Amino acid sequence: MINQNEEESLDPQDWKSMRALGHRMVDDMLSYLENARTGGGWRPMPEAAKARLRTALPKTAEGAERAYNDFLETVLPYPLGNIHPRFWGWVIGTGTPLGALSEMLIGTMNSNVPGGEHSAVYVERQVLDWCKEMVGFPSNASGLLVTGCSIANLIGLTVARNVKAGFDVAQEGLSNAPRKPTFYGSVEMHSSLKKAVETIGIGRESLRLIPVDSKFEIELSALKSAIASDKANGFRPCGIIGNAGTVNTGAIDPLDKLADLCEEENLWFHIDGAFGALAMLSPQLRPLLKGMERADSLAFDLHKWMYMNYAAGCILIRDGNSHHRSFSTSGTYLARSPRGVAGDQPWLSEYGLDLSRNAKGIKIWMSLKEHGVDKYGRIIQQNVDQAQYLGSLVKARNELELMAPIALNVVCLRFVNSALSDAELNVINAEALSDVQEAGIAVPSGTVLNGKYTIRVAITNHRSRRDDFDVFLAKFVEFAQARVPVASAA
Ligand SMILES: *Cc1c(COP(=O)(O)O)cnc(C)c1O
Repeated sequence: MINQNEEESLDPQDWKSMRALGHRMVDDMLSYLENARTGGGWRPMPEAAKARLRTALPKTAEGAERAYNDFLETVLPYPLGNIHPRFWGWVIGTGTPLGALSEMLIGTMNSNVPGGEHSAVYVERQVLDWCKEMVGFPSNASGLLVTGCSIANLIGLTVARNVKAGFDVAQEGLSNAPRKPTFYGSVEMHSSLKKAVETIGIGRESLRLIPVDSKFEIELSALKSAIASDKANGFRPCGIIGNAGTVNTGAIDPLDKLADLCEEENLWFHIDGAFGALAMLSPQLRPLLKGMERADSLAFDLHKWMYMNYAAGCILIRDGNSHHRSFSTSGTYLARSPRGVAGDQPWLSEYGLDLSRNAKGIKIWMSLKEHGVDKYGRIIQQNVDQAQYLGSLVKARNELELMAPIALNVVCLRFVNSALSDAELNVINAEALSDVQEAGIAVPSGTVLNGKYTIRVAITNHRSRRDDFDVFLAKFVEFAQARVPVASAA
């Protein structure tokens, strides 16, 4: 017989010291967030710090205190920096203190949420209903919380393919396709949509990339001729992907017109609204998204423009049956029963790829209760106002140029100097961007628009203040000017 005193668990032997450590962690983390402006920014990680992280697999106990101290010394000081008020790179959210604490609640319950009869399932269903209401989707649509918009796009396009391919793709596979399925969207679409199309076997070739106009919105006439030509050549057009806020410039495609076209051509209408869909929360911005409510599937994130802690995205699908049919393949070990823990039906796992899922609904539920949806709308509007403010600063200076219209919360700009070529300006802008980042001033990111290197300031940050943009711009110009060759500096 096993001596019960020799059996082990991973719980602490000394709850009192674990409790003390926990309190210390909460205090340390709240102080860290309270001082995000002074301590939470990106800085280059020294080689010595990286070297300290390369250690052998721990074979014996180092203990919780020691693990936490190592975290404080080697991990916490070198963050991505997106909690800082001047982080505007790519499209990255900031998180909140209650969001961080909610992660502890989620981790404590540690509920697995493929489905079943327990609170986290009901929280997720409630959160999905709130999401539908926030973005103007009908309450009988289906949905799922996912890690992010990449997975949300993948799920949306999978259902689109299954519904519109004209045969049973899930059963027979694409090699049996009588006609090759095609999808359409603008050249400005996010890379996750290209990955999704590769993953579901459509192939990048069959994702028709349509040119954009001077506002970076899809060209409808080019789109229509691409569809017509594919039909004439034996392809099977399946769906159109609309952008509600492109990653490069924040452009919004003419969603209403895309919805009309999908209706005329019997195509699926998928919208990637990763951050832009949340502009719905501001009454002033809402009209920009007209037509979004007509989508068959809508993908968006809560960790970007709802400022929630990573990772939280959402897919909504108008026709819940087609959504369920696409992912409900199950196994006997998942046998349902009318009552008990497995009682509730259908399971959430029947709407996506993950079986084991964390209870991310809880942090969204907590955050919406904490602030109320109106406040999110005000801060989203505040970010858009800040983008307009930054735009006005750029327009007021000869040595700066706006590279795209400011459709939402993304400002694209570059340093210019008439004595220099575009090639020279590309180098100076890229270098000055790295300079501002490495000096710990601000973190915008870079892109290329119309062949020109461009600085992108994407504002999904509830901590930014107007003067943060003054500080960034002054320093950026200073760094860029310092890189102008003396002969051209006049
Ligand atoms: C960020 C982004 C995505 C991908 O979302 P993740 O949450 O990073 O997976 C897709 N589309 C757009 C427009 C984005 O900005």
